[in-house]
Amino acid sequence: MSHDVHGARFFSPNETFVTFHHPGIAYVLERKVFDRAITEMAATAGAEVVVKARATGVTTADDGTVNGVVFRHSGRDYTCKTKTVIAADGVESQVARWAGIDTTHRLRDVGICAQYLISNIDIGTDYCDFYFGREIAPRGYVWVFPKGDDIANVGVGIGGAISGKGGKLAIDYLNEFVKRKFPKGKILGLVCGAVPVAESLPQLVGDGILIVGDAAHHSDPMSGGGIANAMYSGKFAAEAAVEGIRTGDVSEKVLAAYTKRWNSEFGKHFKNICRIRDGIIKFSDDTLDKYTETLSKIPSEQITMAKIFQTLLRHQPSLLLELRHLILAGWI
Ligand SMILES: Cc1cc2nc3c(=O)[nH]c(=O)nc-3n(C[C@H](O)[C@H](O)[C@H](O)COP(=O)(O)OP(=O)(O)OC[C@H]3O[C@@H](n4cnc5c(N)ncnc54)[C@H](O)[C@@H]3O)c2cc1C
Repeated sequence: MSHDVHGARFFSPNETFVTFHHPGIAYVLERKVFDRAITEMAATAGAEVVVKARATGVTTADDGTVNGVVFRHSGRDYTCKTKTVIAADGVESQVARWAGIDTTHRLRDVGICAQYLISNIDIGTDYCDFYFGREIAPRGYVWVFPKGDDIANVGVGIGGAISGKGGKLAIDYLNEFVKRKFPKGKILGLVCGAVPVAESLPQLVGDGILIVGDAAHHSDPMSGGGIANAMYSGKFAAEAAVEGIRTGDVSEKVLAAYTKRWNSEFGKHFKNICRIRDGIIKFSDDTLDKYTETLSKIPSEQITMAKIFQTLLRHQPSLLLELRHLILAGWI
């Protein structure tokens, strides 16, 4: 863990903000350290770790069941025979595609992100900050996640279909924000990439193969955050794989226990989140300012989802129409 955060602040385009005070709700990670710790746990539990290896294909049995991976390591090709393959190769996943499962994203179903690690800035808060607005980050948001008193991850995610419009990329939106908010900051690192912001891939398993994490489109459709979800899908998939191996049947039918579990724990949530997101995206900057102004009057320690909706509906009854899906789904 890099920093303990006490909640989040959501800024509307005119920088009115709402604070969610919730100590212990989240941590800012040092990702390299976190990934290495997980690898170490896997190794301790008996996994054989092969670093600097690139999977280049899968092997199949006569009946089409996936039963191995071909990989390149130190200039040589190897084949590793397996009982099941778990495709955890991220947003640009190819492993599942080699097994005949289409994992491609529609452009509108991804967020394009750029993030700096910036030092020499005055954070002055233990909250994760989120900035919204069509000019700041169309179909997305800017984040400032503190990693210490004077250092933070500052990033932007914009809609995939927006990226490049008018010649503007995610990095351009990020540079504009950083120039305005942290002109004296020192940029120490840059990460760019895409995150899935859609519903889960419908097909999560095939004969002998399971797909997890970003490869399975499992990051949160609203925030694009996918670390925790990738861990959940990895766990659910591993449990289904273990059961398949134990019973000697790794057919799609048996591995579908993973799909069933994912859908029951996250499926409805993802659907509802997509609906809320699609509603919020349509808000003009003025509307966002107006709603945030209303919500900023609720004391931060009293803010809950129910309170938000009650307050918004009391002040903006027209929202009832926009939120009807959530009301019907029993969320409100
Ligand atoms: C700029 C940015 C900021 C983000 N910030 C956050 C955040 O604050 N919080 C959060 O929860 N999420 C965040 N995310 C999303 C998060 O990074 C992903 O959702 C998460 O990493 C998904 O985990 P994964 O294991 O599925 O995929 P990944 O973490 O992408 O891991 C896939 C791995 O597979 C490897 N790989 C790919 N192809 C092959 C191959 N052929 N052979 C061998 N290895 C291969 C890759 O090198 C990579 O190491 C962010 C994403 C971006 C782009």
